[in-house]
Amino acid sequence: MKSPEKTGGISDLLRRLPSVDDLMADLRREEGEGPSDPVLAGAARRAIEQRRQRLLSAGAGPNGVEEGGGGREALREEILREARGLLSADRSPLLRPVINATGVVLHTNLGRAPLSEAAARALLDVAQGYSNLEYDLAAGRRGKRGLPVEDLLRRLTGAEAALLVNNNAAAVMFALQVMAQGREVVVSRGELIEIGGSFRIPDIMRVSGARLVEVGATNKTRLGDYADAIGPETGLLLKAHTSNFRIVGFTEEVSREDLASLGRERGVPVLEDLGSGCLLDIPGIPAEPSVAASVAAGMDVVTFSGDKLLGGPQAGVVVGKAPWVEKMKRHPLMRALRLDKLTLAALEATLRAYLDPEAALAEVPALRMLSEPPEAPGKRAETLLAALGEAAGRLRPEVVKTTSRVGGGALPLSELESRALALAPRGLSADEADARLRGG
Ligand SMILES: *Cc1c(COP(=O)(O)O)cnc(C)c1O
Repeated sequence: MKSPEKTGGISDLLRRLPSVDDLMADLRREEGEGPSDPVLAGAARRAIEQRRQRLLSAGAGPNGVEEGGGGREALREEILREARGLLSADRSPLLRPVINATGVVLHTNLGRAPLSEAAARALLDVAQGYSNLEYDLAAGRRGKRGLPVEDLLRRLTGAEAALLVNNNAAAVMFALQVMAQGREVVVSRGELIEIGGSFRIPDIMRVSGARLVEVGATNKTRLGDYADAIGPETGLLLKAHTSNFRIVGFTEEVSREDLASLGRERGVPVLEDLGSGCLLDIPGIPAEPSVAASVAAGMDVVTFSGDKLLGGPQAGVVVGKAPWVEKMKRHPLMRALRLDKLTLAALEATLRAYLDPEAALAEVPALRMLSEPPEAPGKRAETLLAALGEAAGRLRPEVVKTTSRVGGGALPLSELESRALALAPRGLSADEADARLRGG
C-alpha cells in the first residue's frame, strides 16, 4: 500500500505545511522568554510562506515531492530551521565591521577612513543625548550649526570661510550651481574626470545647470587655452584633481597659481575640486596638493572629502573666499545638503587632532597607517601569525613583503612598501579560502 503522504497532487503537499501556531510554539520552546509573539509569528509566517512558494513553483512532480520533504515531521523540522535562520538574520546587522585585507588603506567599498578614538567618542557623546548643535551656549540663544568646525577649517587651511555638506560630490555640484548656473564653465580636457558611481564632471555640470566648455587636449592644456575660452558667458574656471589616474609622458597642465591669477585678471572666479583634501604632509608618501596650498594660490573656492586623506567621516568640505561661501550658505539647497550632528561631532574631533600635526599622525588611523614604516604592519603580521597557533598547520601562513595603496582617489600610482600575512590553506582552492574568510 502506498503511504498517503507520497500520493496526491500539489494540494496534498501544501496540506503538509505546519501551522503558524505550531511553528511558533516550537520557536518559543527554543527561544524562551526573549522575543515577543509578533516577532516569532512573523518568522514562522515568512518561513512557511517561503516554502509554500517553493512548493507551488516546483509543482506536483518530483521537484515538488523533493521540496515537500520526507513527510510532515521532516518538513516541519526543515521549516523550523529556516524560521530560526530568519530570526537570527533579523538580529544580525547587515552593515557590519570587516577586516580590510585589500592593501588599500582608504577603500571606498569598505567605508574609507576608519575614525580615530576621539572622533568615535565625540560621535557617541552627541548621539545619545542633546547637544548645542544650533544653540549658542555663551549668548544663551539660537546659534549656527557647524560653526566650531568652520572655525577649525579656517585655521587649518588659511581660508576666509568654510561650509560643510554631505560629501565632496555634493560640494562640487553645489559650488557649480551657485557659482555658474546658466553660465559657461571652462575645464581642461585632461580633467574631465569620472570618480566612480556615475560622478563625472560633464554630468555633474549638466545637473548643476552650468555649460561645460572644454579646452586644451587630454595631455596638454596651456594658460592661453583658458584665456581664449573666456567670454561674456563665462561664469567659472574649474580645476579638478585627477585623483584616480595619471596622464604621464608628454604632458602639460596649468599651475593653480597661474589659473587663479588669470581668473582675477579677467574677473572670473576659480573653483578647485581637490578630491582628497590633504591638510598636512604625510611622511612616507609623496606629497598630494594640500588644501592650504590651493587656498594660498588664490582659488576662490576649494572643495574636498572628509573621509579620504583627511581621515574623518564622510563629508564634503568647501573653503574659500567669504562672499562665495556666504552665497552658498544662503542658497536654498544648503538645507538639503547640510551635515548631521553625528558627522559634525566626528569631523570636529578629527580636525582638532590636526592642531598638533604630530598628534594627527599618531591618532588619525588613516594618517597613522600611511605614515608608519613597513616594519609596523610586519610586526602585526607576526603577532597574528603567533596567534594562529594550532591552525597554522592547515593555513600555512607566511609573513611576506607586499605593497599597499593609498586609495580614496589619492596617489593612484604610489605603491607603499608593506608586509602581509599570506595564507595557503591545505586542501582549499584560493576561491574557497576567500569565501570562508568572507563568511567568517
Ligand atoms: C573622491 C572625489 C570626489 C567625490 O568625493 P565624495 O566625497 O566621494 O563624494 C569628487 N572629486 C574628486 C576629484 C574626488 O577625488
